[in-house]
Amino acid sequence: MRSGATSSLDLNGQTRVAVLLPLPLPGAYDYRAPEGLALAPGDFVSIPLGAREVVGVVWDPALGRSPVAAARLRDVSRLLPAPPLPAVSRRFVDWVAGYTLSPPGAVLRMAMSVPGALVPPRPLAAFRWLAAGTGKSTPARERVRAVLRDGPPRPLSELVLEAGVGPGVIKAMAAAGWLEAARLPPAPAFAAPDLKRKGPTLSPAQGEAARSLSGDIGHGFKTTLLDGVTGAGKTEVYFEAIAAALDSGRQVLVLLPEIALSAEWLERFAARFGVAPAVWHSEISPSERRRAWRAAGDGEARVVVGARSALFLPFPDLGLIVVDEEHDGAYKQEEGVIYQARDMAVVRARLGDIPIVLVSATPSLETVRNVATGRYRAVHLAHRHAGASLPLVAAVDMRRDRPPARSWLSPSLRQALTETLAAGDQAMLFLNRRGYAPLTLCRHCGHRFQCPTCTSWLVEHRFGARLRCHHCGFEMARPDVCPACATAGELAACGPGVERLAEEAAALFPNARIATMTSDTVAGPRAAEALIGRVRAKEIDLLIGTQIIAKGHNFPGLTLVGVVDADLGLIGGDLRAAERTYQLLHQVGGRAGRADRPGRVLLQTYSADHPAMMALVSGDRDRFLEQEAAGRREAGLPPFGRLAALIVSGGDAGALDRFCRVLSRAAPRGEGFTVLGPAPAPLAILRGRHRRRFLLKCRHDVRPQPLVRAWLAGVKVPGALRVQVDIDPYGFL
Ligand code: ADP
Ligand code: ZN
Repeated sequence: MRSGATSSLDLNGQTRVAVLLPLPLPGAYDYRAPEGLALAPGDFVSIPLGAREVVGVVWDPALGRSPVAAARLRDVSRLLPAPPLPAVSRRFVDWVAGYTLSPPGAVLRMAMSVPGALVPPRPLAAFRWLAAGTGKSTPARERVRAVLRDGPPRPLSELVLEAGVGPGVIKAMAAAGWLEAARLPPAPAFAAPDLKRKGPTLSPAQGEAARSLSGDIGHGFKTTLLDGVTGAGKTEVYFEAIAAALDSGRQVLVLLPEIALSAEWLERFAARFGVAPAVWHSEISPSERRRAWRAAGDGEARVVVGARSALFLPFPDLGLIVVDEEHDGAYKQEEGVIYQARDMAVVRARLGDIPIVLVSATPSLETVRNVATGRYRAVHLAHRHAGASLPLVAAVDMRRDRPPARSWLSPSLRQALTETLAAGDQAMLFLNRRGYAPLTLCRHCGHRFQCPTCTSWLVEHRFGARLRCHHCGFEMARPDVCPACATAGELAACGPGVERLAEEAAALFPNARIATMTSDTVAGPRAAEALIGRVRAKEIDLLIGTQIIAKGHNFPGLTLVGVVDADLGLIGGDLRAAERTYQLLHQVGGRAGRADRPGRVLLQTYSADHPAMMALVSGDRDRFLEQEAAGRREAGLPPFGRLAALIVSGGDAGALDRFCRVLSRAAPRGEGFTVLGPAPAPLAILRGRHRRRFLLKCRHDVRPQPLVRAWLAGVKVPGALRVQVDIDPYGFL
């Protein structure tokens, strides 16, 4: 017996290869390379799997796998004409799989999510002038001749346009020998950035930061936090680092949390580099997807800007990664392979031995801690560009400054809105709650409308008169009669959503031009862009919205931001609730007063003495982070300890609880960690499935992965139940 399969055991002149398939299987499968087909790790191949043909990747030899008997091996069907998956991408797939405890094939699926891209784009049909034809000349033929004479072959579509003839004329000329058909390589999908263009003249502090980041290009792995207040010019600074990486001939990846909504970022990029970058996120079309994947893989796309999954693009020569808004919760993927893209980006940079820049005005405690321990370096930009001042933040104590009944705006916020609008300035109201009201109840019997398949109230959306579950999408018409007691006209909306707020604002300021912006009211990136454009053009006086208005947009005329319920994010047992509240509200507040005008931020709160509120008011971020850190250190929570969550779910609560008892008994025991649970998840029922949570809490020097792996290896999960593993959980629902 040979010990350990390799990818190239000699079988009478033929070779054995391991092929990883983009399927949730435990590992790679062995195949035989047919005679004359030389295969190397990274090659995309088509192989028979059962009765199907599946595309996979020739994987690197794994040690310790017991080889399948040679006689039982099936042949690789064919090699696909695509650039191979680079070695660094393969190592990244293995690494992410190992860290997140996912099957490597499930991770590979993210790296080859566009099967169509494995076929090279078709060459263009083109024609060249031969002048050897027969038959008479016509005005149409003359025009074709004039376009083609002395020139290179032209694609049919261009020729038709330029000569003003139908395709039939051209085909007839080719048949008569005047033209010769040719094949042109397809037009490049992405033009190269123009490196001769200059960015703005940087301030001394910006220049120093830019030189520092640029100086790292080509010098191996290094993680840098680019830390600076909103408007400090962080984007301008990292654009210089991008230019430096491009100048050295390498590719660049920029991750943004809400790529679909950042038309503004794309405009700035185009202004700086003269071209659009390749864009990668869930909302691009299948053909854009094919183009972007292929262009990232063959190096034609020099810069890719994308959402978290862009990390898995097959860059052959990545030289720099930038993660903008590194603290953003959107970097955590919660479905399928559960991973934190910011952390995995650092891993990708380490495997590629390249620098990575994490950018934020409110860095995560994880990153701040890594700076403190010296693992990451920090580059600071302390001031807003061109002396623009930071907004003045004040708390409105709702215990004293009470809004009138069934309204949500306190007298001081009303006053501030009145002043702002009277001065012809713009204002914004922020409430992180879609719809009209988060709860509808019957005043007669107390019945509350709940989702039939989730542990959640139905949210009233007055537009369309619907009640909707924000977790599963269930919806129903809002009835007039209570379904429990049959009383009519007694259903009451409880609490505000943005729609209700807009109603109050419209009543208070009948002359103001008001717009609401939520994921319900703006359908897609284009609609969002249009609305943002109207705000910037000062066609809107008061913008009301959820967190989609908090991100990145630049509204020069905005001088007042009202946060309607600053406490909203503090509710619930999430260990990062205070940190997130601080980050979100800081970001919302950062929309005010970006130009030469000072801005004001009013936070309506019932807990004005909460550390997050005090930090927002005082602007003392670092003190807040120290307090947060002290609390987490005390509790052994991240970043001072490690967490892994197990979410067990199933349709039958009894079977679920029985299995949870089995899991409990099999739970790991030992030094340096504890297992908490099972506990019903806060979202105890989701889409009709009951859910229980376990939490494995480890000391910082104890890795949760081996513990979870051993734990799950010791139990058999019944077919109707599902166990999801969430390493480094961010959501606790
Ligand atoms: P941040 O990313 O830190 O929020 P930005 O890079 O978006 O900051 O800069 C804020 C605004 O200031 C942008 O409109 C940007 O173009 C402008 N700006 C920043 N630095 C400069 C500079 N050196 N010269 C001209 N404009 C600048
Ligand atoms: Zn639901």
